[in-house]
Amino acid sequence: KLAANELEIRALQDQYKEIDAQAIKKFAQFPLSLKTQKALAEAKYVNPTPVQLESIGPALLGKDVLGAAVTGSGKTLAFLIPVLEHLFINKWSRTDGVGAIIISPTRELAYQIFETLKKIGKHHDFSAGLIIGGKNLKFERTRMDQCNILICTPGRLLQHMDENPLFNTSSMEILVLDEADRCLDMGFQKTLNSIIENFPPQRQTLLFSATQTNTVQDLARLNLVDPVYVGYGGQT
Ligand code: ADP
Ligand code: MG
Repeated sequence: KLAANELEIRALQDQYKEIDAQAIKKFAQFPLSLKTQKALAEAKYVNPTPVQLESIGPALLGKDVLGAAVTGSGKTLAFLIPVLEHLFINKWSRTDGVGAIIISPTRELAYQIFETLKKIGKHHDFSAGLIIGGKNLKFERTRMDQCNILICTPGRLLQHMDENPLFNTSSMEILVLDEADRCLDMGFQKTLNSIIENFPPQRQTLLFSATQTNTVQDLARLNLVDPVYVGYGGQT
């Protein structure tokens, strides 16, 4: 079974360089793990939206992505699919700690991301947790170290970083910042810069917003490396 897994991983990685977003019409044409493909099909996600088409390829290749697309355009899958695939390709297991952190400005949005993750990640073995406050802090603390994917609001995440000596992000390999423009509108700039300071500098960053923003300048510590712009007509 391990060998089959290994073969699948190599076959997928071999195809990443050849992804041609222009030629893709269906998710099934993307080199995605069978576990992800199966869940996408079961959830009746068949045709990728434009932001998904353009973001998934570069994100699978490990590139930083800056995506701008209006509300309702499908940004959630544009980052959740690459997150799942990254952990799968790297044979992440429950004991490997936090591999991806997704930051969202509000509890409601974080919860929606969590629900979508449960749907498309259901055949994978990764653990995921919501760190959004409102619940018992102690409960969050004991759970979060066992989570491979954390979905957080900025204030609550920073609180854990400041107060929880057991919370360790050194294994983190992907950072997703969703609704980055809204995070800044809501006054989270300082909080986000403090959070980012705590992350390992070697990581992939996927940043999405509903409008084209200057988030990169505003979030000085993001350290994006040669990012791929999606939805920034002209800059691409
Ligand atoms: P955004 O974050 O850009 O506002 P969402 O990721 O919340 O958008 O997606 C908006 C809606 O579109 C959701 O109900 C989602 O299930 C649906 N959706 C996303 N991608 C697809 C797709 N490829 N095919 C069909 N529906 C999709
Ligand atoms: Mg969204």
